[in-house]
Amino acid sequence: MRSSLIIATWLSLGAAQTHAFGPFEKNVAARAGHLNAATAALKPFLSQNASVILPIDKDWDALQIRGTSPRIHPNFNAIVEAATEEDVQKTVELASKFGIPFLAVSGTHGWTKTLNNLPYGIQINMRKLNSVTVDPSGKTASIGGGTLQWEANRALYAKNKQAVLTLCECTSVAGPMLAGGHSMLQARHGYTLDDLVSARVILANGTAVTASSSSNPDLFWALRGAGQSFGVVTSLQLKLYDVPSTWTISTFIYTSDKLEAVLDAVNKVDSDATRSPNLVLSGVGKRIPPMDPENPVILYTLSYQGPEAEAAAYFAKFQAIGPITVKPSTNVNNVELYKVTQNSVDSVACTRNKNSMGSGVSLPSWNTTAARAAFDVFSKMTADPRFSQSVFLLENYGMQGVQAVDPSSTSLSLEERQYPAVANPTIWWNGTAAVGQADAEAYGEQIRQALFAGLPKGAKKHTYVNYAVGTEDFNQMYGYDTARVQRLKALKKAYDPRNGFRFYNPVPLA
Ligand SMILES: Cc1cc2nc3c(=O)[nH]c(=O)nc-3n(C[C@H](O)[C@H](O)[C@H](O)COP(=O)(O)OP(=O)(O)OC[C@H]3O[C@@H](n4cnc5c(N)ncnc54)[C@H](O)[C@@H]3O)c2cc1C
Repeated sequence: MRSSLIIATWLSLGAAQTHAFGPFEKNVAARAGHLNAATAALKPFLSQNASVILPIDKDWDALQIRGTSPRIHPNFNAIVEAATEEDVQKTVELASKFGIPFLAVSGTHGWTKTLNNLPYGIQINMRKLNSVTVDPSGKTASIGGGTLQWEANRALYAKNKQAVLTLCECTSVAGPMLAGGHSMLQARHGYTLDDLVSARVILANGTAVTASSSSNPDLFWALRGAGQSFGVVTSLQLKLYDVPSTWTISTFIYTSDKLEAVLDAVNKVDSDATRSPNLVLSGVGKRIPPMDPENPVILYTLSYQGPEAEAAAYFAKFQAIGPITVKPSTNVNNVELYKVTQNSVDSVACTRNKNSMGSGVSLPSWNTTAARAAFDVFSKMTADPRFSQSVFLLENYGMQGVQAVDPSSTSLSLEERQYPAVANPTIWWNGTAAVGQADAEAYGEQIRQALFAGLPKGAKKHTYVNYAVGTEDFNQMYGYDTARVQRLKALKKAYDPRNGFRFYNPVPLA
């Protein structure tokens, strides 16, 4: 009796929304009131550990803070903290039925400004779906859809296992995976999505399905490259590996005049067919005034999963460039790794609420003239005190594992499989001033265009979907080959005809 009353309430609110406050209703304030009431009515259908949080509740403000706020601020007016797959299912089902926008939130590090297109709607907070279970075979793990990297990594390491997780401890496992998953293990095992065995997915109509090579294979294909446009992943099964050894790591710190020499060395190592897949190359440009009061310096890190002796020849090449100093670390385990590489939960990389904006560029190799032009812009930008904490990421994690995967087996763009070098200015600043954002965007775009200007003739412009700022066109993120793009769009139409999943660098319906 009680539940039919609640359904009736929900339905009447939903009907009102469908007719008077449809999905594209401009009067968001009016819709907000209805949505609050409707969301509250959802509560009795949720599991015991789920909660519905509204703006009047004490936890509201904390749940608006993101790794990328205040710049990224999806407009929520209700939060459902889902504790079970059914909670997600019920929420999506009812939201979709009545045209209420919704967005899954896990690690809060999504940094594309398309997330700001969410008009008043429901945050489906995934953090209670936080679990890591090593499957009995020991060859896969089942990971909850709201689990963070550090939680997964530490749980696996406790069992002497590792998986292709990404670098920053504070992002989720699912978020990066759905569009790639750049990882320190990618040279051996491919991107995170290449190691996905299966996923439980809530589709736009609220149906829960399994996606794998044998169950809904089309969805499985689309999910691995454009997943945010297709569903909410409540759990995923990833391949596991035994931890083979500890890491040997050296960070070489150079003055900025060594940029060309460093990138030349990176190009040489990276194009060598004998490059060890245990080697990870990653650099950061940043200001450290005690080391150089005038210019940013370059911190270039070589990480090698294996003994020092095996890494020595690589380290020697970077030593020969003439660093100001070198910070060596040996015998680094898989948990310490994040601290040593400055990607741990307490690192600057995981700072919250400082706008955090990327502007990613993927490249077939480093063009040192273009890189110098880009670095000059970065140098100018960080001389501005507002942006002085920003960094310039120069990543070459290794591509053997990525390129060993049949490119037709996932929806990931060809460029994402081919281009080994990734540049990403990561811009941090405080506050909400429009001028700050406009200036940051302008600097980010100048850096990006400077790098694109160095592309070899015929090479296509590419940005990793997860490093997009939200201004890129579809092909720049999802690729240019007609068959792949058409298949992706056709699947979008089939799986999400009402475009419920349209807030993360979306695959368009047409
Ligand atoms: C500091 C920082 C470090 C980064 N490091 C890396 C890195 O090492 N490697 C790499 O590849 N990328 C990296 N990225 C990019 C990262 O892949 C994206 O920002 C990603 O979107 C973060 O996911 P999230 O869950 O943390 O963020 P959220 O903002 O919670 O989610 C981002 C998007 O994914 C969707 N989503 C989240 N969870 C689910 C789910 N369970 N099911 C369906 N959709 C879901 C959300 O709806 C949203 O559209 C980094 C970004 C930042 C800001």
